Amino acid sequence: MAELTLDNVTKVFDDNGTDIVAVDGVSVDIDDGEFLVLVGPSGCGKSTTLRMIAGLETVSSGEIRLDGEVVNAQPPRERDIAMVFQSYALYPHMTVKENMSFGLEESTDMPDSEISSLVEETAEMLGIGDLLGRKPGELSGGQQQRVALGRAIVRDPKVFLMDEPLSNLDAQLRSQMRTELQRIQENLGVSTVYVTHDQTEAMTMGDRIAILNDGELQQVATPLEAYHEP
Ligand code: ADP
Ligand code: ADP
Repeated sequence: MAELTLDNVTKVFDDNGTDIVAVDGVSVDIDDGEFLVLVGPSGCGKSTTLRMIAGLETVSSGEIRLDGEVVNAQPPRERDIAMVFQSYALYPHMTVKENMSFGLEESTDMPDSEISSLVEETAEMLGIGDLLGRKPGELSGGQQQRVALGRAIVRDPKVFLMDEPLSNLDAQLRSQMRTELQRIQENLGVSTVYVTHDQTEAMTMGDRIAILNDGELQQVATPLEAYHEP
């Protein structure tokens, strides 16, 4: 759990000598445990914003703070942030259990037995407890997405970043996962930034919705304020 602050964050890409301002002076506070949905048209800077928070992209100017500490120069590993993408990026040669354990084995000195029971508990919670011995190729899209989520959850991150995590699922599964994701996020109380094109997801999942347009934050509002005409 953490408070995440973006303070006048700007990203300028150099495209063969031409400046592309992908993110333009974005300031927003994501409170401890808050679920912020980030929406806006394609190319408006959503992915770049997430990548800067995760440390996968440098910040051109401005500050990103985690619980008040500036993390601009911190490598991704040290930020304690988990990211879930629309493509699951699971290791195909590893079992579900190995996929979910891998990050913990790499980044903590938790004993194997503890990792094992934590992974089993998390898999149970996500309804994939009986799939731990399978490989990703033997799973449905929804099951793979749960594994990707599980892998993020077991690390008990301070912040969750999700980039259209449900967009590859069919409508029924998407609606089911929407409810489950919300429940899990509430249980964990983890601060979350969630990128989506789906208005239903934005309206039902977010505590607040941030609307990005051409790199600039246009509005940060509750779902009611954002989608109800006066
Ligand atoms: P990314 O953020 O991962 O770069 P894009 O934002 O470029 O991805 O778009 C992902 C997909 O969503 C594309 O297929 C694109 O056509 C579609 N898309 C982009 N903008 C919208 C929108 N405003 N509403 C619905 N779909 C959109
Ligand atoms: P979104 O996720 O909202 O679709 P992006 O953050 O992917 O938007 O992109 C924002 C803008 O930055 C776009 O104009 C895109 O073309 C540009 N951009 C993204 N990544 C790079 C890059 N590595 N080099 C140059 N321009 C980039």
